[in-house]
Amino acid sequence: MSTYHAPLSDMQFVLTELADLAQVASLPGFEDATPDTVTAILEEASKFATEVLDPLNATGDREGSKLLPDGTVQTPAGFKAAYKQYAENGWNGLTKPVEYGGQNLPQLVATPVEEMWHAANMAFDLCPLLTQGAIDAIELCATPEQKAKFLPPMVSGAWTGTMNLTEPQAGSDLAAVRTRAVPQGDGSYKLYGQKIFITFGEHDYTDNIVHLVLARTPDAPEGVKGISLFLVPKFLINDDGSLGARNDVRAVSLEHKLGIHASPTAVLAYGDHGGATGYLIGQENRGLEYMFIMMNQARFSVGMEGVGLSERAYQRAVAYARERVQGKAPGAETSAKPGPIIDHPDIRRMLMTMRAYTEAMRAVGYVTAAAIDNARHAPEAADRAQHQAFVDLMIPIVKGWCTETAQEVTYLGVQVHGGMGFIEETGAAQHYRDARIITIYEGTTGIQANDLIGRKTARDGGKTARLVAAQIDKVAAKLASNPDPALNAIGLRLAAATAALQSAIDWIVQTFGSNPRAAHASSVPYLELWGLCAGGWQMGRAAIAATEKLQRGAGDAAFLRAKIATARFYAECLLPQADAYSQSVVGGSASVLAIPAEQL
Ligand SMILES: Cc1cc2nc3c(=O)[nH]c(=O)nc-3n(C[C@H](O)[C@H](O)[C@H](O)COP(=O)(O)OP(=O)(O)OC[C@H]3O[C@@H](n4cnc5c(N)ncnc54)[C@H](O)[C@@H]3O)c2cc1C
Repeated sequence: MSTYHAPLSDMQFVLTELADLAQVASLPGFEDATPDTVTAILEEASKFATEVLDPLNATGDREGSKLLPDGTVQTPAGFKAAYKQYAENGWNGLTKPVEYGGQNLPQLVATPVEEMWHAANMAFDLCPLLTQGAIDAIELCATPEQKAKFLPPMVSGAWTGTMNLTEPQAGSDLAAVRTRAVPQGDGSYKLYGQKIFITFGEHDYTDNIVHLVLARTPDAPEGVKGISLFLVPKFLINDDGSLGARNDVRAVSLEHKLGIHASPTAVLAYGDHGGATGYLIGQENRGLEYMFIMMNQARFSVGMEGVGLSERAYQRAVAYARERVQGKAPGAETSAKPGPIIDHPDIRRMLMTMRAYTEAMRAVGYVTAAAIDNARHAPEAADRAQHQAFVDLMIPIVKGWCTETAQEVTYLGVQVHGGMGFIEETGAAQHYRDARIITIYEGTTGIQANDLIGRKTARDGGKTARLVAAQIDKVAAKLASNPDPALNAIGLRLAAATAALQSAIDWIVQTFGSNPRAAHASSVPYLELWGLCAGGWQMGRAAIAATEKLQRGAGDAAFLRAKIATARFYAECLLPQADAYSQSVVGGSASVLAIPAEQL
């Protein structure tokens, strides 16, 4: 049986060499993020992931969360105790402001920690993940009184947060939200309606749950411009901060799902017994704008779920491939005995694909996290704006590409196990099942791709997209001009991929306004192309950094050589897909739409 061990060497390499932790730590407010502190945090997190969360992953999957007759939810054995330990250890407030009890560490430091939670037990971590986004939305949009009341217990982890958007008729299209919020004249509202698919909408981790709910006030305009954001606690709060009356929001059922069985996905009924008391956050009719604060955080985190699940699937596949003996590898001596499947070249191809994608996704994620920190904390407004533009471009790529790629990685994890991969007891199947949701929630891949072609590419006439592509091209040129054969090979492939990306950007910019149906037909291949090239960019930078470290005699030589070899594999075996994606973007949309809907 494989045990999860956080890939600390790779995490540290990406943090220091690619995401420039030293620069992030020099931003105002981040003085505590010294290399020693960060190393200690990662080591502690790694222990918690391996010793507490990983052992609960399979048992939680088998047992699942249950709705009890009294309307409460029981999470699987061990989860409540693990959450208590998680909160007591201060993990919930890692990036949150000191004034509310947090530690104000950079997103860059929280990102590898989060990756560990996702890898070890994604279902457990969905509750903290949503709480993090709820805290951000309250911090940025709520009144000082609301912040004082709700943030300290949410930051400490004593209360958790949820995100209530979805209704039966309102999924990707939030304009269709119908939940009603009626003002009571005392500053509060009564909410009526039903929300579905609410992650950790009811649970036993904590005494209280703070629901952030999208709803419409009586005279609100139609569509997304008439949606407001409300805070609805499960238990109302007394003036002294203690818990008061039970609010009128209840879990009426839990969904039966393909994966993440330990995470309770609830149907919540608001107002069946007179109305659920809610408090407006910010101004009326600006709810979707506020909810996007929460969603951007959550979209980034869901992308990192893709990284965590991929790493876990990779580690499990390597462990199995070392143990499983089957046949002789091609080229073995005729007298040789059958050996482990890891010696079969095709198994190596699968393991290298899993490894290379995972390392590339990790690097893209952490570099984006560093930009999130700069966008919030850089001293100069112009720098903050430049980083924000990069983050805005990258969020749908991190979410869309890392989650789609995790499908392939976890699929290969099953394949490496052969028939045993299809049998639950090896654990490979669970990663494959758990991964399936991540391309769907927090906006499907189609929705991420719409965002990428519209708001993130066409809206500024391709300016940000072209600037980032030019940065990739610069790295490609540096690699291609290097006499070192590995770097040179990586550079040539990366240059070709970047040229393919640039053609696709030009086409999207030209087509988005004139032929929106064609642009939308090409949106997902465009997103995949972006992810692939961003991954190649970071793997190219990793190869340069590893080569320079080897030349200086710094660091673990075996690790650095493997890094270069993995980057070369990425360039030679995965990056060539860029041309295919680009051709599909530029030349494929007409055939996507060629057959009328009634003939499909
Ligand atoms: C396990 C789980 C947990 C969840 N947790 C939460 C939660 O905590 N809070 C919450 O509010 N919601 C949650 N959701 C809901 C989730 O966010 C939605 O399921 C998701 O946004 C998709 O909406 P939908 O299911 O209605 O699909 P639909 O919107 O009906 O989409 C169906 C298909 O149509 C495509 N599509 C729809 N519109 C477009 C478009 N404009 N362009 C291109 N393609 C389009 C989609 O990509 C998809 O392939 C959860 C869902 C699940 C299954």
